[in-house]
Amino acid sequence: MNRETPISTGCLNAPVLKQRGQHEVFCGLTGIIWLHRKMQDAFFLVVGSRTCAHLLQSAAGVMIFAEPRFATAILEEKDLAGLADAQDELDAQVSQLLQRRPDIRQLFLVGSCPSEVIKLDLSRAAERLSEVHAPNVRVYSYSGSGIETTFTQGEDACLAAMVPTLPPSEAHQLLLVGALPDVVEDQLTGMIEAMGIKVACLPARRSGDMPTIGSQTRLAVAQPFLGDTVSALTGRGAGLIPAPFPFGEQGTTAWLRAIADAFDVTDETFDAITAAPRARARKALDKVSETLRGKSIFFFPDSQLEVPLARFLTTECGMIPVEVGTPYLHRGLVGPDLALIPEGPLISEGQDVEKQLDRCRAARPDLTVCGLGLANPLEADGLATKWSIELVFSPVHGYEQAADLAGLFARPFLRKAALQL
Ligand code: SF4
Repeated sequence: MNRETPISTGCLNAPVLKQRGQHEVFCGLTGIIWLHRKMQDAFFLVVGSRTCAHLLQSAAGVMIFAEPRFATAILEEKDLAGLADAQDELDAQVSQLLQRRPDIRQLFLVGSCPSEVIKLDLSRAAERLSEVHAPNVRVYSYSGSGIETTFTQGEDACLAAMVPTLPPSEAHQLLLVGALPDVVEDQLTGMIEAMGIKVACLPARRSGDMPTIGSQTRLAVAQPFLGDTVSALTGRGAGLIPAPFPFGEQGTTAWLRAIADAFDVTDETFDAITAAPRARARKALDKVSETLRGKSIFFFPDSQLEVPLARFLTTECGMIPVEVGTPYLHRGLVGPDLALIPEGPLISEGQDVEKQLDRCRAARPDLTVCGLGLANPLEADGLATKWSIELVFSPVHGYEQAADLAGLFARPFLRKAALQL
């Protein structure tokens, strides 16, 4: 991205259609699937129902071959009779688990939405169990409830739960916030460190590498759905570096540039470190985006990645956004991306699903990005769809993944073309 480009406000000040009605959401427990892979000495104990256990098992079926690092403590109907007994039962389950698995250093008690679970005070349980099992294990709690949330809020709640326990420090440092696949995190932190910036990550891969936090900590946020985590971190004095999210060549460059500026890195150093991967990303993207150029796209609200992805697909792949729907429009985080989307699309927040389906069917976009529940009915109507959840499970950030990210959106077009041959 050219730093001399005149500042345009794009869709930043566009009117936002806010609708509240029936909405399609997916459960916040889903985050456990990618979080347990990231945090190698953590265990996630869902306090929930058989439905929660089924969701986790089916979403993470591959894990049956490995030593699992998540489980569901199923609360039976009879537990409703005495919540004190339920607390005792939970303590006993945790003790058994920690005895059997001495490798666990962080234990997350994850609440769910059945009413009997909501009545349990898991934060008090976490405090009590942390005291019992200190110093070997720290116990946290958060809610992964599927009521009124989007599936990415599970990660936000998990990371926010850790913030109060981060040790204070006045070091001038960067904190990379958001769970990224290790390979992607290594690429990004490698470039940041090459600029001479000390960087730590939340979440850390192991509890021993937990970051510190203070007024000299600057936050580079990698996922747009971490509003509560960022509030908790700024509440501890850290400062957010506003930037577009690191999707595509331009997004990654703008994100790194904002970090470099916050740490007074010279243009020469910045260019020396980013020039080669930028050129690679641009070349790879040019090829993949041929399929996408001029195609229209409609986003239903689901992952909270909608605004940064619309920015990427518009400015780097030549797509035409019709509607960019998002569950929550967190301007503090997605404002820089919103400002880069040229005026034109309808920006919508929240959902009244029937009305939104009517708008989508009327627009007949070339591609619709939506949750699992809406994809089949839309495909039945002859519309090509992309599951938004796939974008959270795939490595999509940074230069080396720029073409893969575009490729995820190109795939439905290529499949359709192959079927028509
Ligand atoms: S937390 Fe709620 S929505 Fe999620 S699996 Fe359990 S019962 Fe279903």
